[in-house]
Amino acid sequence: MYEVYALKYGERDTTACQFFYREASHESITLHYYVWLILGGPHPILVDTGFLDDDARERGIRSYVSPAAMVERAGVKPGDVPVALITHLHYDHWAGHSLFPGAEYWIQRDEVAFWTGPYGHYPAFRQSANVGALARLVTLNYASRVRIIDGDRQVLPGIGVHRVGGHTAGLQIVTVQTRRGTVVLTSDASHFYRNVETRQPVQIITSLPEMLAAFETIHALAGAERLIVAGHDPLVADRFKPVEPGIINIA
Ligand SMILES: [Zn+2]
Repeated sequence: MYEVYALKYGERDTTACQFFYREASHESITLHYYVWLILGGPHPILVDTGFLDDDARERGIRSYVSPAAMVERAGVKPGDVPVALITHLHYDHWAGHSLFPGAEYWIQRDEVAFWTGPYGHYPAFRQSANVGALARLVTLNYASRVRIIDGDRQVLPGIGVHRVGGHTAGLQIVTVQTRRGTVVLTSDASHFYRNVETRQPVQIITSLPEMLAAFETIHALAGAERLIVAGHDPLVADRFKPVEPGIINIA
């Protein structure tokens, strides 16, 4: 059976009105930045890659620790990760890919198409991009290190990716069968529990209907155990079991 860990590698403060769709409140909120690690199979599987210290400096991230260091603290050498499921190509999920030099990156076709297509350069989208990291997609693809997938896919028995879109064109979420039930790693299909639990969208959107449908997909995949892991919520540490600073055992 698989075990799932959330590994926190940074924090950033913002306000509710900067974040939730049509929210008026200026209340301060804190985002936590995570990668997720799936152990217990034939090899470790990483979900997302975080970012490097350039983004940490430029974007005012607090308490930054390299995602590679967090993976190592969880007992896995970063070079020994053969598969990284990339939920989407925003800087905080993709710009750290070089930290995992042995990985094949699984990315949805719609996501690759979007960031190499006509809309990514507009300020509304570009602010979430690390352009250098996006450019390296091409070299990595020609080095046979990118697996471009289209829709729902089994990764290993008991581990699946599900294309939901909404927040980005090809956003995918990840399900993992564990002893406690099905864990749903929502990534940015639900930054906070408030998103999925009250069906409140975030402001960064490619399709609002897809984002709303994603909330229903998350609930359907999670079932009665409700092992939902929100993508940036500090509450993950309250709802699940921190085992040491920055390492949270989900199941
Ligand atoms: Zn994110």
